[in-house]
Amino acid sequence: MRAFYHPEQALHDPQQFMRAGKIETPKDLPVRTERFLGALARLGVPVETPVRDQPDARTAVHTPGFVRYLETAWERWQQLPNPGIEVWPNTFPYWSGRPDWRARPECPAGHIIAQTGWYLGDLSVSLGPHSWASIRASSNTAIAAADAVVDGHSPVYALCRPSGHHARADRASGFCFLNNTAMAAARLRSRFDRVAILDVDAHHGDGSQQIFYDRPDVLTISIHADPNNYYPFFTGYDHERGVDEGEGFNVNLPLAHGSNGQVMLAAVDRAVEAIARFQAGALVIALGFDAHARDPIGVLKLEVEDFAAIAARVKTLGVPTLIVQEGGYAIDVIADCLAAFLSEVR
Ligand SMILES: [Zn+2]
Repeated sequence: MRAFYHPEQALHDPQQFMRAGKIETPKDLPVRTERFLGALARLGVPVETPVRDQPDARTAVHTPGFVRYLETAWERWQQLPNPGIEVWPNTFPYWSGRPDWRARPECPAGHIIAQTGWYLGDLSVSLGPHSWASIRASSNTAIAAADAVVDGHSPVYALCRPSGHHARADRASGFCFLNNTAMAAARLRSRFDRVAILDVDAHHGDGSQQIFYDRPDVLTISIHADPNNYYPFFTGYDHERGVDEGEGFNVNLPLAHGSNGQVMLAAVDRAVEAIARFQAGALVIALGFDAHARDPIGVLKLEVEDFAAIAARVKTLGVPTLIVQEGGYAIDVIADCLAAFLSEVR
């Protein structure tokens, strides 16, 4: 198998994260990349560095104004009188457009504070001096890995960090800035008529859902903890099935909090059946490990061997497969989870 990662992805080092009314240390620590690299070394998988910057892949699923904002926000923030240590929103604009529209108009105001409210959707996506370098490198890793699948390799692993599946066409949230999974799926469409996304991160893949919500060519399936009392709260319910031509091509499988591997695997079986029926030409797995019982922000009860069992089921599909890293914050178990998954799927 092939694997991709760029060292600049470890530079993003957020300092603040708001949870339950308190400013806490963020969970997406740079050391996560070391742990994932350790798992690849253990399996003897060589790590390739993406060589090309691919801005077109970013605007294939994101609005130009949003991408330009992410790219320039840090520098513009420094021009504020007495700026804080990070770019962090203090406005949360109400938007009354149709929820199924792919994106909002560009931010009507030009000021950096206005745009920070418009484009950063919550208080978990602060931007520091090196954040853009990491965000850009993470997107290039996803696209280099997708190109390897287009070239006939499978499975291919993209060690993406920051993660992407909460990022919408025009909004960052949930530790995610650019949607690596969605960019990769869009790139795979250049070769495959039908692409499926299977998201097994403990959180609903709300960004990926939104990006493909009106499209029949990308089947989006997310298995996650019940959002009624878990992030991202407002989406991830089973009645969200897509709109217009995309109706029927979005599937949410929420799990009761406290669910173990057996419950997760029953949902994976349903997902695998749906992907087979869809006759997907290629598959993107949005792979998070925050469903592990020891995850610090988790509510599910998976163990390391359950990730191997997920991989075994996915492998039965026999389609070209790209694995994109999403969440997982239990620093001492994420390498074992990744090694378990990859050694089964390869
Ligand atoms: Zn997650």
